Amino acid sequence: MKIKKCYCFDDVLLVPQFSDILSRSEIKLQSNIDEFLSLSIPIVSSPMDTVTEDAMAISMSKLGGLGIIHRYNTVENQSNLVKNAVASGAVNIGAAIGVSGDYFERAANLVSSGARIICVDIAHGHHAMMRYALETLKNTYGSSIHIMAGNVAALEGFNDLADWGADSIRVGIGGGSICSTRIQTGHGVPTLQSIIDCSQSDRDAVLIADGGIRNSGDIVKALAAGADFVMLGSLLAGTAESPGEEIYMNGGRYKAYRGMASVEAQIQWRGHTSSVEGVSSQVPLKGSTRAVLEALERGIRSGLSYTGARTIKELQSFSKFIEQSASGAVESSTHINNS
Ligand code: IMP
Repeated sequence: MKIKKCYCFDDVLLVPQFSDILSRSEIKLQSNIDEFLSLSIPIVSSPMDTVTEDAMAISMSKLGGLGIIHRYNTVENQSNLVKNAVASGAVNIGAAIGVSGDYFERAANLVSSGARIICVDIAHGHHAMMRYALETLKNTYGSSIHIMAGNVAALEGFNDLADWGADSIRVGIGGGSICSTRIQTGHGVPTLQSIIDCSQSDRDAVLIADGGIRNSGDIVKALAAGADFVMLGSLLAGTAESPGEEIYMNGGRYKAYRGMASVEAQIQWRGHTSSVEGVSSQVPLKGSTRAVLEALERGIRSGLSYTGARTIKELQSFSKFIEQSASGAVESSTHINNS
């Protein structure tokens, strides 16, 4: 059996290259994908119940990104969250649905409440039920909404979802910070490798890298490898705009951050558990979403300037990846106290 070698974020680095960029303000992070998905920063917040409800969606839209309101509530609750966001002036609003039960009714209510982007959000997106859902949505709504779908880990999945009607596709299985899919099922692909593989697609669908992004360096690597956008969970959890109460613990202030397939999340939204593929945790409070996004944006701009790229497209064509050794990875992280 031939086993393919795959790379994750820490296995690689981008080689610094000649740059004539005098100021990081020369760098343009805008993308003009279509009338629905033209963002000024390439960042989307994840449809999780500890990351995106109305406050996060409003904040993401105002800061030039996109929020996808989660689906782990009643159709009425989720529609009200969408209405609140649209009333508050948010332009880019996405909302998630599943592929069974009330998914079609949910989509209809979300669209009539003002959602312009519907995200078909399931753990294993390369699935017959995804095909049926995408074809039904496409036949119903045509191009009047943007359809996001996922997740997939491989090129075949990416191409099929594109052919079934997805306009953008979430790429990454098993890499999320709260994810135990690989432990439970033995399945998954390092997110960076999935991006590299799916970016070879000849389809037009937008590639959204999702799962395992820990810092702006990972974002720069994801974009360089071919992602149009990144989706963030843990990096946006614990902000003022993420849902959830403050928790006081060991003298610090935290919010819960949990996988949607964790025991805690499943019990809350459906009263019982089936396959548990996530964990529940707490993250320290980190201030406003604006502060987090501004810090990430500074890192991304700096990253593009190290490659000498003024746009994400230039980053993708100029970038040179190298593989680093395990000791290289140690050198790459701060190591003042290691010796
Ligand atoms: P993070 O940015 O590394 O925290 O990963 C967030 C991503 O993990 C989400 O956007 C989902 O794709 C994925 N995810 C969310 N909940 C679960 C879960 O319970 N199990 C596995 N993956 C999950």
